[in-house]
Amino acid sequence: MSVGFTEVADRVYVLRQPGLDVNVTLIVGDAAALVVDTLSTPDEATELIRAARQVTGLPWSVVNTHHHFDHCFGNELVAGDPPAAIWAHQETARLLHRPVETIRTEAYQEMAPTHPRLAEALRHATVRPPDHTVARTESVDLGGRTVQLWHPGRGHTVGDLVVRIPDADVLVAGDLVEQSGPPSFTDAYPLEWPDTLAELLRELGPDSVVVPGHGDRVGRDFVAAQHSELVALEWLIRAGHADDAPIERVAAQAPYDPLVAAPAVARGYAELANRA
Ligand SMILES: [Zn+2]
Repeated sequence: MSVGFTEVADRVYVLRQPGLDVNVTLIVGDAAALVVDTLSTPDEATELIRAARQVTGLPWSVVNTHHHFDHCFGNELVAGDPPAAIWAHQETARLLHRPVETIRTEAYQEMAPTHPRLAEALRHATVRPPDHTVARTESVDLGGRTVQLWHPGRGHTVGDLVVRIPDADVLVAGDLVEQSGPPSFTDAYPLEWPDTLAELLRELGPDSVVVPGHGDRVGRDFVAAQHSELVALEWLIRAGHADDAPIERVAAQAPYDPLVAAPAVARGYAELANRA
């Protein structure tokens, strides 16, 4: 299937990959470009490169918003030869430096029940880890335009990184914000995610464009609504833990499908138990 980039703000382009509805963002400056997230398979990465080359002939560097396969398994091809810089939060880099067999097996097991063909492809993926790391913030100069890489805290994963394009009032949020489905909690920090989104909200104005990890572009109000849901979930987890309530019972009260919320409750309980 042929996919292309759409300009969503001045020289900021988004490609929506139809399979898992992942967003890839391409930011173009006067001297260089930046590709944010690299999709799952060689076919997807090849299509992404072709689409990006229809927009710009400039050299690019790469950003991974986090370590999940649908945001980074295309690194090898998208970085190219000689390889471009690949930026990520230091914890994302650490996770992607684990043995490749471990990383592939995680991806395979996640997708096998629902997407067997994709799962099979992931089993043979190359995984090129990031080589430029961010602790809190870094700036990347694209020539006449500077973008900021920012770790606002833990949330969807241990190493969430967002990309700010201040001159275009765009924020690329990765899976800290999801539009086409509920937030995903398998590797999440449900007690910290609300504070992390509050950090993002402080940076967003009424006209800001937010590119979620999956789905349609959103604005400040959508992020504020997701923040409220995550705050509600956090307090359900805290109250449930204090009462020794079973995970399923707390998950049933959450503002998400109980199957979505159950891992959040489990992870929240584990964190509270560790703190005690
Ligand atoms: Zn993710």
